[in-house]
Amino acid sequence: MERTFAIIKPDAFKAGNAGKILARIYAEDFRVVGLKKLYLSKVEAEGFYAVHAGKPFFDELTTFMSSGPCVVMVLEAEGAIKKWRDLMGATNPTEAAEGTLRREFGTFVGENATHGSDAPETAAFEIGYFFSGLELL
Ligand code: UDP
Repeated sequence: MERTFAIIKPDAFKAGNAGKILARIYAEDFRVVGLKKLYLSKVEAEGFYAVHAGKPFFDELTTFMSSGPCVVMVLEAEGAIKKWRDLMGATNPTEAAEGTLRREFGTFVGENATHGSDAPETAAFEIGYFFSGLELL
């Protein structure tokens, strides 16, 4: 079993799509081992996306991620990292395949509904950024 870190981003939460996204998560047989609703500060969003610091979209991205509530989750499944990225689809919703979450719930590259870790090392950092071991059941 593998764990990955996922976010229902502020655009999807604000649009009322958190429930639909969770339903897809359960339908695809992920175990939700951690889940909480947060309203990130700009500084917290900058810390989470530190790997992108200095890139042209960094300010817009962290402003967006701190613009409203989001849902942060730890998902468990066999091959969870790839499985969740496959379910999300491509970063740009207009390029994401039919049936993926970003295609269905995203708007444009800057507001693409969901986040998912891209490798075991980033999953470990991202899970630890938001959850203590005691919160993962
Ligand atoms: N992003 C953006 N403009 C870009 C590239 C990325 O606004 O040109 C945003 C986008 O919302 C993406 C996030 O920055 O989800 C992180 O980028 P990354 O390349 O890590 O994509 P992801 O792993 O989320 O698919």
